[in-house]
Amino acid sequence: MTATVKGVGVSRGIAIGEAYVYRREQADVSQRFIRKSQHEKEIARFKKALKQAGKQLRDIKDQIAQNTPVDILAFIDTHLLMLEDPAFRDGTIQNIRTLSCNAEWALHKQGERLLQVFDDMDDPYLKTRRDDVLYVLQRIQNCLTNTPETQLDASKLAKHIIVADDLTPADTILIGHNNVAGFVTQYGTPLSHTAILASNLGIPAIVGAPDVCQQIKTGDMLILDGYDGVVHINPDDASLAHFRSLIRSESKRRAELKKLKGQPCVTLDKKPITLHANIDSPADIKQINKYDTTGVGLFRTEMLFIDQNQWPSEQQQFKFYKSALSKLKGMPLTIRTSDLGADKELQDTIDHGPMAHNPAMGLRAIRRCLKEPDLLTPQIRAILRASAFGPVLMMIPMLTNIEELDEVLQHVEQCKQQLRDSKVAFDESLPVGAMIEVPAAALAADAFASKLDFLSIGTNDLIQYCLALDRVDDEVNHLFNPLHPAVLQLIKMVIDAGKFAGIPVSLCGEMASDPKYTRLLLGMGLTYFSVQPNALLEIKHIINNSKINSLRPRVRKILQLYRADEIEQQVRKLNA
Ligand code: PEP
Ligand code: MG
Repeated sequence: MTATVKGVGVSRGIAIGEAYVYRREQADVSQRFIRKSQHEKEIARFKKALKQAGKQLRDIKDQIAQNTPVDILAFIDTHLLMLEDPAFRDGTIQNIRTLSCNAEWALHKQGERLLQVFDDMDDPYLKTRRDDVLYVLQRIQNCLTNTPETQLDASKLAKHIIVADDLTPADTILIGHNNVAGFVTQYGTPLSHTAILASNLGIPAIVGAPDVCQQIKTGDMLILDGYDGVVHINPDDASLAHFRSLIRSESKRRAELKKLKGQPCVTLDKKPITLHANIDSPADIKQINKYDTTGVGLFRTEMLFIDQNQWPSEQQQFKFYKSALSKLKGMPLTIRTSDLGADKELQDTIDHGPMAHNPAMGLRAIRRCLKEPDLLTPQIRAILRASAFGPVLMMIPMLTNIEELDEVLQHVEQCKQQLRDSKVAFDESLPVGAMIEVPAAALAADAFASKLDFLSIGTNDLIQYCLALDRVDDEVNHLFNPLHPAVLQLIKMVIDAGKFAGIPVSLCGEMASDPKYTRLLLGMGLTYFSVQPNALLEIKHIINNSKINSLRPRVRKILQLYRADEIEQQVRKLNA
């Protein structure tokens, strides 16, 4: 039987190729006692290493090609900022003095303290920043110990599958430019920089594969299955043949899909369907014209600013939204107000005291904005002001009850009046809508629909709250099931409420981007999908090859089932 290693697939696709195992040289750090008279000399040596590490990072940034994703540049900037952070600098200098030890040991002890802070965090996004701290610590240690920086050998990359403990931004840039077949890393989570890069580059990739560097040798033949997150090591001929045929049909399908670019999105029985993109990063906005979309159905504003230490001012947001609109060239932009909290948090909240015991249930999204109007008011004003420059919709996340909605609408009205008073232009009829992602809101969807211009179903959270499982907890991820009959009932209620009120209802959670659910959703009456940019063509292909009239009665029967496994079976038949 072929040996396998399992991790988390973070970029869909299959790669076959020889392994190139890449281990980074680790600096050898040991403790040395020094005399008091040597303290200043040791501190100077540490400061010199900090400078050297900064120069290396700036050199990497300078060498980066123009078309490098903005996210990667942001990672390097984050590392540069860390080098200046007192947490690294002052703590280490203090250790040199109080422990009377060499700079390497002082930094090592300070690093242990910093990493422990991240290990103790509940917030999964912030936990991923531990990788960045470790990376910066290692870089300074290498400078202190004169350990040469190991680099991927660019000449060995083409068509290879890279196997590494983790990849630095510099490594990933090389990977992006050298025709790498795929990569698998021991560390990293779906939210880590490695994962973000993989999906940006469209390279099949797996992260979080335990001991992968021990189990695989350079030269081993590998199959990397980014769909299931499995690496097959030295597979037999039958497996190779099976996966080769999958790759062939995948590339044929991709070529076919490209032909759909610019074509209308309409079912076989001539029902037009709206297909928009979800936008999560400045890089997505930059590339918006490359995507086959007619608008943005979800603009996750908090993701744009998440690496910063502060929420941006009204003017900064206004400029950003306005420039996004100019790139969209008349296409609608649905701007979601801040969804900060739980899985999405600003960096500066590291210092904000103890984390909520259960952040997903806590002060996140609109709850937090209503408690902190300084967060909400500038954003509403920025969105309104941007609406003078193109079609904008405002979307409110995580509403749970109508009182909250009334409060938000009051804020919107106040902001409008302020702008009128100061003769600032905005769209008087700017549509305001709600994300329906809390079961209570889905059950009360009629009431929300009666007061709003549109609804959008956020299945990522709706499923989390309906099934009582943390969407970022690996231990319960296997229970996350969009086909749970209760989830389907909630989605159906929202679609029907929108129809009754005569307002559009979109679905912008990951469920909309998964081709497995497209026909089911069409049969449930959904006519507006907002999906990940890389899923646009695939979803359009399914829509254009579906007949709503024949799906409807079959889906009606599916919705009467009360076992998820039976529903799954019937959905498979629907897709056959
Ligand atoms: C959702 O919850 O489905 C959604 C789209 O919002 P987010 O994933 O940003 O919470
Ligand atoms: Mg959500």
